[in-house]
Amino acid sequence: MVTLIRKLEARRKQLLAELRLPSKGLPGSLAQSQRRCGSAGCHCQQGEGHLSWALTYMVDRKKRVDHIPEELVSAVRRRVEEGNAYKSGVVELMAINAQLLILERRARKQQESAAKKRAVR
Ligand SMILES: [Zn+2]
Repeated sequence: MVTLIRKLEARRKQLLAELRLPSKGLPGSLAQSQRRCGSAGCHCQQGEGHLSWALTYMVDRKKRVDHIPEELVSAVRRRVEEGNAYKSGVVELMAINAQLLILERRARKQQESAAKKRAVR
């Protein structure tokens, strides 16, 4: 148990050192899709549609899909990665804290009962 506590504490320390709120971080996911423009006689009527990029994310529990122009794709991708990395770091940190809350209490109780046993002898 002490080993696990040390391990979780080390990971927490690492996360706290690494996590920086990305000021331009973006939510959601960036994905490519095919769409049909609707123009009569366009090739997209038959075969493949026009490729386009969209950022899908939630605002006030509603899903939003925004078209992302080709020239912004690489910057938006990087910002989405930054946003996701930050979010998963925060989730991991909170989960570590929840585990430590219980483990540290359990370790304290073990120490206390070991001390009592020694005192009885
Ligand atoms: Zn078309």
